[in-house]
Amino acid sequence: MAQLSDDCFAFGDSLTPLDAALRALHDRTAAIADQAEVALAEANGRILAEDIVAPFNVPPHDNSAVDGYAVYFDDLDAQAETRLPVTGRAAAGHPLDRPARRGEAVRIFTGAPMPGGDDPPDTVMMQEDCRVDGDDVVIMPGIKRGANKRDAGEDIRDGEKVLRAGQLLRPQDVGVAASLGRTALRVFEPLRVAVFSSGDELRDPGGMLDPGAIFDANRFALAAALTQLGCTVTDLGIIKDDIDVIRAALTEAAVSHDLLITSGGMSTGEEDHMKAAIESLGALHFWRLAIKPGRPVALGQIDTPTGSVPFAGLPGNPVAAMVTFLVVARPLILRLSGATEVAPIRYRVRSGFTHRKKSSRREFVRAKIVAGEDGAPTAEKHGRSGAGVLSSLVGADGLVALPEDMTFLEAGSMVDFLPFTEVMP
Ligand code: AMP
Ligand code: MG
Repeated sequence: MAQLSDDCFAFGDSLTPLDAALRALHDRTAAIADQAEVALAEANGRILAEDIVAPFNVPPHDNSAVDGYAVYFDDLDAQAETRLPVTGRAAAGHPLDRPARRGEAVRIFTGAPMPGGDDPPDTVMMQEDCRVDGDDVVIMPGIKRGANKRDAGEDIRDGEKVLRAGQLLRPQDVGVAASLGRTALRVFEPLRVAVFSSGDELRDPGGMLDPGAIFDANRFALAAALTQLGCTVTDLGIIKDDIDVIRAALTEAAVSHDLLITSGGMSTGEEDHMKAAIESLGALHFWRLAIKPGRPVALGQIDTPTGSVPFAGLPGNPVAAMVTFLVVARPLILRLSGATEVAPIRYRVRSGFTHRKKSSRREFVRAKIVAGEDGAPTAEKHGRSGAGVLSSLVGADGLVALPEDMTFLEAGSMVDFLPFTEVMP
């Protein structure tokens, strides 16, 4: 595992705009996940750890784009039909075994290499535009030089960088690697993340709740989101608010994990020992982010004999925990995992609601997408708005992000929409 720079999360104390926080995060963190070679069949969904440069052209040879006849354009009559003898045959995987000759046509099929030699044919007539007459083919006028011929390297040029270290491998990327003959790719190993919850009121789901207790929701939501980001998740359960218990659990987890993440227990009340525990094991910094919901996010690190392990503490309120996970922890996790592009694509949609907000903070509004009158996607505010109302996320499709300087959103104006499918694919 690579080493983070010393105390990489020390960013200062004032209310931090989200963009500034994300820029700082980007500048101060780097990939720490290990690397490994994986078979191509295992590579989808992994983050590539090497640049892939094409060692040859794809396709490697000029070939036909259609079923038809390979001809010399200069043999064709531009005004009238041309009759040529068919003297050879080239099918996909079965090239013509001799050079072609002027004054002749070669029967050719899609994907078959164009006949080679010093003076090869340059054009392919589609069979639909030809008539077969005995051993001859009769070709209609009107074709362009070079028609229906695909050039060597049309897909990928020899020496072209087609895939970059740090990109998430999708099915089409795996396909491109295969077209270059790769059987294995160097990728980042999944980030090993330990997740736990903090709070004496929390219980594992199942059974009856005792008075004052609630079931732990965040740990399960966060573990699921981490898994969807490609992490290997260890569930450390609920850690009681006892400094010695917290210290022991984190010290042990830091040995075998790349990131520790928790929710709740970060306030400064006398029952909140998480903060003191982390500070005693390394360093802890609060980011008072200028966002709603979810202002306080704690980032820190736990020092171990072999290096320091980053720590992220999210708010306890379930909606705030999810929102801060998506907008802050997610880019952090992707960076540590080796990804270079960590900003999600935002989509501009029409707002179907009016909304009043405070200035100087970015607000994320739970929204559902419906078809507007003209069929264009329109965001409707969804569910109740409390930071603790987790069920409001269930029917939502994503978050409308309202900029810091906005105080009133008018229905019908365009807004940034962050679909959950974009950030938790
Ligand atoms: P805290 O950040 O610990 O002050 O918690 C804020 C609110 O979130 C309290 O109402 C907690 O009961 C609630 N909460 C904290 N952690 C969780 C959790 N893991 N699952 C559900 N609710 C939680
Ligand atoms: Mg608490």
